[in-house]
Amino acid sequence: MKAKDPYLLTPGPLTTAAETKAAMLHDWGSRDEDFIGTNARVGMKLVHIAGATTSHVYVPLQGSGTFIIEATLTTLIPRGAKALVLVNGAYGRRMASILERTGRACAVLETQEDQPNDTAALDAALAADEAVGHVLCVHCETTSGILNPLEDIAAIVAKRGRRLLIDAMSAFGALPINARTLPFDALMASSNKCLEGVPGMGFSIISREALEAAEGNAESLSLDLFDQWKAMEANGQWRFTPPTHVVAALDAALTLFDAEGGREGRLMRYRENCAILIEGMRGLGFEPLLADAVQAPIIITFHMPGDKTFNFKAFYYGLKERGFVIYPGKLTKAPSFRMGCIGALGSDEMRSAVAAVKGVMADLGVASGAP
Ligand SMILES: *Cc1c(COP(=O)(O)O)cnc(C)c1O
Repeated sequence: MKAKDPYLLTPGPLTTAAETKAAMLHDWGSRDEDFIGTNARVGMKLVHIAGATTSHVYVPLQGSGTFIIEATLTTLIPRGAKALVLVNGAYGRRMASILERTGRACAVLETQEDQPNDTAALDAALAADEAVGHVLCVHCETTSGILNPLEDIAAIVAKRGRRLLIDAMSAFGALPINARTLPFDALMASSNKCLEGVPGMGFSIISREALEAAEGNAESLSLDLFDQWKAMEANGQWRFTPPTHVVAALDAALTLFDAEGGREGRLMRYRENCAILIEGMRGLGFEPLLADAVQAPIIITFHMPGDKTFNFKAFYYGLKERGFVIYPGKLTKAPSFRMGCIGALGSDEMRSAVAAVKGVMADLGVASGAP
């Protein structure tokens, strides 16, 4: 192993703790009681983090986050039914694509990428369209890092008697979601974002009542979460080969999560990371895309510097040389780049990251990061 990996200032996969990596130095039988116990413990903890008890169940799935989203949407939304998607970035748009590909009708309510979802428009759209059964939203739209108004969305969806599915991929484990006070049918997330595990699995926290009614909806065998759930209920096992090392690493990561003070502790650290990064970058002239009021402490989008001598590729490799990997591309329409503030890093690493940016800017001969 290399002495020191660069820190990942990305939206995931992230820098993980030594304990999380070390948990993978074993082999487990996927049908053995040791692994079954680990999986059950992970599931219980995840349901607990969502504030749910017996109302909701844990249904995991192999693959990246998009797999669990496609699986959840196609399991819970019947073919031919209609859903409304709140879009202000690439991940909302991706859910709309899944619906279109799989023969579900789809209405899209879009706002600009630096504007939160429009709750008044949502209320009006639901009032006007009886056919919409489900509303799909993205808690933190990682395209820009914007925080969407989840509580208000959930209240409107409940008032209108519809069902809510939440892509909480980049929020779960840090931003609050409580199933006891916020009604939802499913919340989708993955091992490798705010929970600080390694990539390879997603999971859905699904209302038991909604899942019980979902038999036969999914057209895909391997993405059928009803079948996955039924099998796991029966014998505690994943239906098909589970990513055993990923589950073991998530188990270790959740022990660290508890030791940090759970979701509140994690949010506190990410808030501090975010504040240090934004303040430090502003000090170098950079400007965040988002207003502070809608910025989630997950990933920060900065406008590209206006200085003609600034070269993003050289900037990227300069930072890597100094031990920090940032996200090498933009998802927003505005010319921008992103730096994450989640993962197993704290205030010292964020200050070092700002110092590295300052050093690279000096190397490049760029006086200011101002757009
Ligand atoms: C990371 C992420 C996903 C899943 O992306 P994958 O590349 O499939 O893991 C989905 N939604 C949001 C909001 C995300 O941040």
